[in-house]
Amino acid sequence: MSDHRLGDIIDDHCIKCRRITNHAIVSLVNYEPAKVRCRTCYHDHDYRHEIAPPTKKELKKMELFKEVLASATPVGLEETAIPEVADGAAPAAEPAKKKARGKKA
Ligand SMILES: [Zn+2]
Repeated sequence: MSDHRLGDIIDDHCIKCRRITNHAIVSLVNYEPAKVRCRTCYHDHDYRHEIAPPTKKELKKMELFKEVLASATPVGLEETAIPEVADGAAPAAEPAKKKARGKKA
C-alpha cells in the first residue's frame, strides 16, 4: 500500500469541495503522500488520510462538551475532599478518649 508515486491519484477529503475527491500526489515523505492536489478544484493541501476536518456543527458540539466538563470538574474535586475529612476525624477521636481516661486515673 505504501508504493505511492508522484502524480498517483488517491482519495482524500478536499476542504473546498467539502467531500472526498480524487487527488494527485504532489509530494511524498517516506513513501507516504504528504501533499496532494484536488483533481476537481486543483486546491493543494496536506494529505489528511481521507479524514474530514471538524465541521462548524462539530466544533460547537465540542465547545458544549468542554463547558460541561468545566462545570463538572469542581463537583468532582468536592467529592474527593469529603473522604479526606472523614479520614482525619476518625483517628482524632481515639487520642481524645485516652486523654479522658488519663484524667480519671
Ligand atoms: Zn477540491
